[in-house]
Amino acid sequence: MAQIPLDRDQQAFDARLDAARKDHTHEIAPDIAYRRLGIVNVIYIGLPGAGDRKWVLVDAGLRGTAGLIMQAAEERFGVGARPAAIVMTHGHFDHVGALEELAEHWDVPVYAHPLEEPYLNGSASYPDPDPSVGGGLMARLSSFYPTSPVDVGSRLRILPPDGGIPDLPGWQWLHTPGHAPGHISLWRKADKVLIAGDAFITTRQESAYAVATQAPEMHGPPMYFTPDWPSALSSVQMLADLEPELVVTGHGPALEGPEMRRALDELARNFDKIAVPEKGVYVGNPARAADGSAYR
Ligand SMILES: [Zn+2]
Ligand SMILES: [Zn+2]
Repeated sequence: MAQIPLDRDQQAFDARLDAARKDHTHEIAPDIAYRRLGIVNVIYIGLPGAGDRKWVLVDAGLRGTAGLIMQAAEERFGVGARPAAIVMTHGHFDHVGALEELAEHWDVPVYAHPLEEPYLNGSASYPDPDPSVGGGLMARLSSFYPTSPVDVGSRLRILPPDGGIPDLPGWQWLHTPGHAPGHISLWRKADKVLIAGDAFITTRQESAYAVATQAPEMHGPPMYFTPDWPSALSSVQMLADLEPELVVTGHGPALEGPEMRRALDELARNFDKIAVPEKGVYVGNPARAADGSAYR
């Protein structure tokens, strides 16, 4: 069952133009595109043809997808064009899968929130997933998803406390914890573009069928991997209050326009009913950074 169904009119890309461009991405603004790697999205910020060190990658997909991520980067920015930085919304396995390989290949700094650092420097694992929530196959399989950290070593950098993002003028990072303690979203105020990570998503990630069809909907964070629901609610409220014009998330199609905003607002207002599972390991018993329970 969809949380808040939307239709494909709200999708922020034109499949026909995407196919004609042949760079394997969905373009959602002149300088923003994303590639869907099966179950997860990676986002490219920079103008087409920008060249070496003139663009930024957000998140790093699944293990084994480094080649696909690099292919789209070369098609979009030019042969051999390396990013200036990789920015991590959070460190779950489906966002860091190709990170070590890409960081080394491109010799590039990796930016993250300090509370996410332990998952990116090899020092702590995430709390166990909760396969009992959400009901779908992806949820039931979640006990097999890796929670152990990656280690990008000396390339890891902490995001500056003033909210700015190095190499991304005009963008700011927002701390949006709940799905992960150091989860961030990226916001560009000038045109109200939001890169939400998994703070909320636009497909029912618990269901393999919904993930395959990419039927658009407004959806809380993936349930099986969200250990702190009260924080997740505050984060969605903050993002809804921004009244974004366009959103791209870690999972599902990018969406835009007033219907999307209405759905995001409804998600924020009725979060407990719509997004939070009725019961689950972490419902009423959050795992948090403050008491150390978010780190194993
Ligand atoms: Zn996640
Ligand atoms: Zn994710």
